[in-house]
Parts: sequence; C-alpha cells; structure tokens
Amino acid sequence: MDPSFIFNHLGEDRENYKYAVAPPIFQTSNFTFENVAAMRSAIKDEMNNSFYTRGSNPTIDTLRRKVAALEGAENALVFGSGSAAAAAAFMSQVNQGDHVVAVRKPYSWTSKLLSNTLPRFGVETTFIDGTEVQNFELAIKENTKVIYLESPNSLTFEMQDIAAVCQLAKANKLITIIDNSWASPLLQKPIDLGCDIVIHSATKYLAGHSDLVAGVLCASNKIVKKIFHEEFMTFGAIISPHDAALLIRSLRTLAIRMEKVQKTTQAVVSFLKDHPKIAKIYYPLDRDFPQFQLAKKQMLGGSGLFSIELAVENRDEVDKFCDALEGFILACSWGGYESLIFPLCGLDDAENYKDNDLPWNLVRISIGLEEPEFLINDLKRAFEVL
Ligand SMILES: *Cc1c(COP(=O)(O)O)cnc(C)c1O
Repeated sequence: MDPSFIFNHLGEDRENYKYAVAPPIFQTSNFTFENVAAMRSAIKDEMNNSFYTRGSNPTIDTLRRKVAALEGAENALVFGSGSAAAAAAFMSQVNQGDHVVAVRKPYSWTSKLLSNTLPRFGVETTFIDGTEVQNFELAIKENTKVIYLESPNSLTFEMQDIAAVCQLAKANKLITIIDNSWASPLLQKPIDLGCDIVIHSATKYLAGHSDLVAGVLCASNKIVKKIFHEEFMTFGAIISPHDAALLIRSLRTLAIRMEKVQKTTQAVVSFLKDHPKIAKIYYPLDRDFPQFQLAKKQMLGGSGLFSIELAVENRDEVDKFCDALEGFILACSWGGYESLIFPLCGLDDAENYKDNDLPWNLVRISIGLEEPEFLINDLKRAFEVL
C-alpha cells in the first residue's frame, strides 16, 4: 500500500465523522447502544467494535490500521508504551517452563523483563551474540518457544540477518519477535523478512515530537486476536485517545522526517569520522561498520541514532564535551525533532545499568530536524574545549 495513502487517508472513514478532515478525538471511556440487541452484537467482537475504550476506540482504531499497514501486517495493537508492547508480546507466547533465545544487550527494560520478570514465572532466556545466525541454532533447546531480535540495537547497533534467523525459527516452529524501533517501519520491513511479531517504541520516530510515550505491536490477525483477549485487556496498558490523535498527526510527517534525519545523519557522521577526538563510530550505514553489507541488504536506509567513542583520557573529559554542546540537548530517549546527546557514563549510578560491558567513553547521538551545518558547528565548538 502506498505510504502516502496510509499517512493521509487510511482508516479515517471521514464519511462517518461529518467529513471532518482531521479525525475527531473520541474522548470517552465507553459507548452506549440503542437497544440490547445492538449491545449484544457489539460485544461479540470487542476488538473491532467500540464498546469500552480499554478495548476499542475509533481514534485508536484509526491509528491501529495505519500502523498495521505501514508494517505490512494484518493487524496491530497500540499500547501506552513500547515496554508494554514488548511485555505483551513475550507474555503471549511463553508458558511456565519455556525458553527464549534473545540477542545480547537488548533495550534495558526488555533485558529486565527477560532476566528478572519472566524467570519468576519459570521462563528462562539465553542471550547470544546475534551477529552470527549459527549462534541462534546452537542456543535452541527442546523447550525454546521464542527468538527475540533487535536489529539493530540502540546503543552499539549490532544487527541480525533477519531473513536467515526467521527461516531457522520457522524450521523449528518458533515465534520471532523483533523490536524495529531504530529503522522505523519505513526503512525496515521485518514482516516481509519473515518475522511474526514486530514491536516499536512509538515514543521514538513514530511520534517524533518528544511529547508522548506509546508502543505498537504488529502481527497476524490470529496473534493479535490472542493478545487482545489476554495481555492487552488484562494488563490494560492502553494509549489515551488524545495521545492516539497526536500519533496520527505525527505519522503525517514520518516520511519527510525520516528523509531529513537520514541526510543530516550522513553529514554529521562524515564530519565525525575524520575527527581526531573520535575513537570509534557505531552507525550501521557507515561504510566501515562491520555489518555494513547486512545493513544494505535488509534495510532501505539508516535513521538518526548512532554512537561514538570519544578519544579522551577520562570521564571528566566526556562530561566536558557533552556539557559544552548547545545544539544537542542532554537527554535520554531519541527519535524526536530535537538532537540529543546521551553519554553512557551519565548512567553510572543507575541500578538498571550496573555491570553492563559497554565502553565508558560511549556517547549516543540522536539527530533531529536541525540543519547539518548547525549541528556540525556545535560539535566543532564542543571539541575545542577538549
Ligand atoms: C525506548 C525504547 C523501548 C521502550 O519504549 P518506551 O516507549 O519507552 O516504553 C524499547 N525498545 C527500544 C529500542 C527503545 O529505544
């Protein structure tokens, strides 16, 4: 389906809403019925009929249809956060005694889910280096149910050969779950490559304005229906109709935002590459990235999140560099209109990041919608304080 049609028209059913151009926000918790027969008929399919907003709401349903189409999935659910989508995806596919094979160093709270929460219910995870398909094969056990991918991850950007891993999963009757937040649905199509469940932190590129937290899950009708009737309705981690309307608005500009971010990132990465104060760059679409060929093979381009290692002596120097930047705001998260700088050493006192094996001089950069010259000049200024 043409992305322009998805962004501007799909799921808006304007004839039902007085032909309003922008979809109305259904700020209501529940829906009434003309008679008992109508009520009885609506509850037969609570996932698709407006009955109670924890299950279905027209504003949120419009968003669901757009997101599913963007991922090339049959169906989608929208959650109150990316972490809620991830938790629902895993909980829906494992039972006590099951086993998960996951890529090493996944997103921090996904890591916590797999290392702390799921083991309390008898589900164990083996973390592997996902850059080699063979490592998945070696880790699969008799009780393995799920393979978890994050391609690339959001700190050091290791990728997996998605098509090859999905083929292996299918041969072993395993479900694949992938976090596709980095590439956005425009630059990577995991469903086409064979994945069963695609999740996003919609907080990042899908929303793109750093003003809301949300998550999405895309899959077949069968999987989505199962999740709807259990994890979605029982955990109740829904998005508000108001935030859904903001997300619909954000999607209108997703394509132009990704195009701009991609161009600017290429310019900034080129500048940084040759700089004497840069020890290493982690960006999948950089020619010298170890998995550059794989990136070219399975993605249509690169987004605006990458990491650098500063060539400095100590942590104070990292602090000095980051503090000197003015065009980059010091903050976590990514994918918004504003460029961000995020030094890993800023997390040194965070319980959830203790004992990670990431380099102390690693600094993550998220490129926003500013002009490349503005950002490069700012970086030049900051390098001068070193
Ligand atoms: C932010 C993030 C998440 C979690 O999403 P929230 O919307 O913050 O709950 C999951 N995966 C990745 C890669 C992320 O960057």
